[in-house]
Amino acid sequence: MKLVIQPIMLDDKKALTGLLYLKSVLETGFGFDKQLTIVNNPITQLPTNLFDNIRNQYLSDQLLSWLQHTFQPTHNTKALAVCDFDAYFGKYNYCFGEAIIGGRVSAIYLKRLLPPGGTWDKKSLNLFQDRIVKEAIHEIGHTFGLRHCSHELCIMFKSKTISDTDKKNSEFCDSCLNSLTIYTQSPLK
Ligand SMILES: [Zn+2]
Ligand SMILES: [Zn+2]
Repeated sequence: MKLVIQPIMLDDKKALTGLLYLKSVLETGFGFDKQLTIVNNPITQLPTNLFDNIRNQYLSDQLLSWLQHTFQPTHNTKALAVCDFDAYFGKYNYCFGEAIIGGRVSAIYLKRLLPPGGTWDKKSLNLFQDRIVKEAIHEIGHTFGLRHCSHELCIMFKSKTISDTDKKNSEFCDSCLNSLTIYTQSPLK
């Protein structure tokens, strides 16, 4: 199974280096093939119809469709867009990420994962990285067919606020793990 990580509007050097860490966590966690997994060069422009001018947010559903159309991932590929902007879908005010359940495309949105204060001490950086990793695992979990889980500490628990994300583990509960191993080759921890 192949993973493509696609940064969008993400030009910060440090953040891009952080994606290599994300890549290694996802490879290990989901058993993606290290030889096939890539971090693409950032995309710096998107079609204007993906942006909601009134709400000043990107349209997550449309972004996923665009990803699907642009990348046309094969059946053994998952694509994860890491987007440095805010987005929403449906009736929600915002989302931290979105994925097609059982599909091939997913996205996470970094704007609301930023720690408060705007300072980049070690603690804030770790928290930011932790949130990125959790949201990415959650969305990729969806692409492997997992739905939301009622266990508050499970990574597939739906985050309504960022404190939900901070509270939960970056791991799957036993029940989600069982469902997941049906789809992936290596058993996950
Ligand atoms: Zn979800
Ligand atoms: Zn679970």
